[in-house]
Amino acid sequence: MRVRSPEAPRRPPGGAHAAWLLAPGVYMRGASAALADASGRRPLADYDYDLFVIGAGSGGVRAARLTALGGKRVAIAEEFRVGGTCVIRGCVPKKFMVMASEVSHALEIAEGYGWSFDKAKFDWPAFLEAKDVEIARLSGIYAANLGKAGVDLVHGRAVLKDAHTVEILGKNQTITAEKILIATGGRPWKPEDLPGIEYAITSEEAFHLPELPKRILIAGGGYIAVEFAGIFAGLGVETTLIYRGPNILRGFDDDVRAHLAGEIEKRGIKVILGCQHTSLEKTETGIVNHLGNGMAIETDVVMFATGRVPHVRDLGLEAAGVKVDDNGAICVDACSKTTADNIWAIGDVTDRMNLTPVAIREAIAFHETVYRNKPTHFDYEAVATAVFSQPPVGVVGLSESEARHSCPGEVDVYVTRFRPMKYAFTGSDERMLMKLVVDATSQKVVGVHIVGPEAPEMIQLAAIAVKAGLTKAQWDATCAVHPTMAEELVTLKEKQSPNTNAG
Ligand code: FAD
Repeated sequence: MRVRSPEAPRRPPGGAHAAWLLAPGVYMRGASAALADASGRRPLADYDYDLFVIGAGSGGVRAARLTALGGKRVAIAEEFRVGGTCVIRGCVPKKFMVMASEVSHALEIAEGYGWSFDKAKFDWPAFLEAKDVEIARLSGIYAANLGKAGVDLVHGRAVLKDAHTVEILGKNQTITAEKILIATGGRPWKPEDLPGIEYAITSEEAFHLPELPKRILIAGGGYIAVEFAGIFAGLGVETTLIYRGPNILRGFDDDVRAHLAGEIEKRGIKVILGCQHTSLEKTETGIVNHLGNGMAIETDVVMFATGRVPHVRDLGLEAAGVKVDDNGAICVDACSKTTADNIWAIGDVTDRMNLTPVAIREAIAFHETVYRNKPTHFDYEAVATAVFSQPPVGVVGLSESEARHSCPGEVDVYVTRFRPMKYAFTGSDERMLMKLVVDATSQKVVGVHIVGPEAPEMIQLAAIAVKAGLTKAQWDATCAVHPTMAEELVTLKEKQSPNTNAG
């Protein structure tokens, strides 16, 4: 195998084969001329690349860069924009929208503190433009970093032809690689058989609405639905959230779910639970949402945030011997290897824990395993996560009900609900929730749940203590920072009386 040092000048892969310069630093051959040996396998030296990565999102970019910096010949294909879901149509633009939306709440608080504003006005097109400039800048940085690491970027949709060959659709080009990494992420799912579903958008279009609607209905109860409901409500849009389940945020601690549902209603979101669409009807004045409970609600925009599915459609997995599970997620072992010997998969396409930092850690583990001879798998325990609802949520570790199932003995629960100090002058009755779940036998804090201002920032730090397995006594031995909301976490004294039904 030819190994290129990181400093080596870029040259077309494939030795004597013809090559085209597609863009600065982007080479591709028209067709692989490598010949198979008697065993049907190609000699390693004849592959165009050591590693071909499909999908330049959070996981793919990190794996490609690390591997190229380690001296391997690496190419990465991206069919849309470099940066993937997180940068282009996920975490980052979503957080910008949350921050834009939160300003209205900050203005309300400011008035309580004596500020006055003549006429606060929000300019949606101006915001979108600023957001898009920043997203383009970030995507550019990702692309530049790939280039600096020596990764060849291939613009186009990659489809597997066999376990070592990838075709770039519409370009009549094939590329061969010794190893392939699939990091194609996920895509939004909506019920295609629902009459009128064509009138509904998903989170992807919500980032580019030509104008801010006056009324929106969001279907779904997961974190994306709840976050977008908060965004639009904060921007003054009349917002309805409908969810077929008994409460939002399935899988989270029941106290968190109940608390958040109440708090988002205080922020003006109409929450309808246990209900789903029967159809959508376009009228001259909007879209009528016909619901199973007999209600008909007209809105300007309907957004479905009803889940995401692995992005594997027409990827050629069968031709390469890569198996998927019943949900379409690529089956992998603990080190992210697929059912094909030379193909790995990481990130949302494997549907293990669909978060950006997890995709990045899986990429690092892939690199360690495959190129540094250190079999490594990511530890999915105590991964902190945030919901950027308004108010936001931060969670790490076990919910109360998970702890009751998995802890060997009793579970101690400490809960506090209080009004954050910053609302003192506003007359707001918003409440913060903080909850510690403790394994009574070991006294380790196994779960932390926060709903309220700055919860995502707090949970990142609390996660260190949970990951380190610190006990409740060690939390309590930590001196408080005063006056803060976070000080409650180290001053919780009273155990909640046992409630086996709590979540
Ligand atoms: P992706 O980032 O999705 O990248 C996959 C890339 O592959 C895409 O660019 C796609 O265009 C490309 N691709 C697909 N098929 C092909 C092909 N055949 N050929 C070439 N290219 C292809 N996570 C968090 O941690 N925090 C958050 O706050 C958060 N908010 C989110 C908000 C929204 C609205 C969404 C949708 C997701 C959010 N996520 C969040 C999840 C996070 O974005 C994903 O977990 C993460 O991006 C997964 O990374 P990945 O590398 O697996 O795939």
